Order: sequence, then C-alpha cells, then structure tokens
Amino acid sequence: MAFKISDECIACGSCEAECPNEAISEGDEFYEINPDKCTECVGFYDTQQCLEVCPVEAPGADPDHQETHDELLAKFRALHPGQEPA
Ligand code: SF4
Repeated sequence: MAFKISDECIACGSCEAECPNEAISEGDEFYEINPDKCTECVGFYDTQQCLEVCPVEAPGADPDHQETHDELLAKFRALHPGQEPA
C-alpha cells in the first residue's frame, strides 16, 4: 500500500528529497504523499526512505490505498519505464 504522512508531521521537510518517486510535497499544514506515485519504495529500497529520515515517524501505511508487493512493483515499472528494480 502507499504510505501516508500523519498529523504528527512537524513539516521539517526532511523526507521530500529522499523519495525516489518524487511523491512527497509540502501541503497546507503537513507534508503529503501522492498515492499514485508512492511505491512504498519498492523497486528502489528495502525500507521506506521517508520513514527512515522522519524525526517523528509520521509516515506510515495508508489503509485507504492497499496494494500488494506485485502491484507496487507494477507501479514502479509504470513510473520508470525501462528501469530495472534494484
Ligand atoms: Fe516515497 Fe518511499 Fe515514502 Fe513512498 S515510502 S512516499 S516511495 S519515500
């Protein structure tokens, strides 16, 4: 499933540059993840980079956007045509 940033976010901006899919942007109050772009870092890393750098552990699984590993891999391939998953 895609990840979502909770209202624990302190809007420090640490995560934005870490996302390999450029799925994170600054929202009105908190940073936000575009679920159409988030692969949970599948295809790039074994762990979610936004969660790795967040000082308050605000990113977490979004129950409204449930996807299997295979679906996330397909999203990676659609977003990055011709690129092999790491
Ligand atoms: Fe980006 Fe990975 Fe966080 Fe998804 S889990 S928003 S792909 S850094």
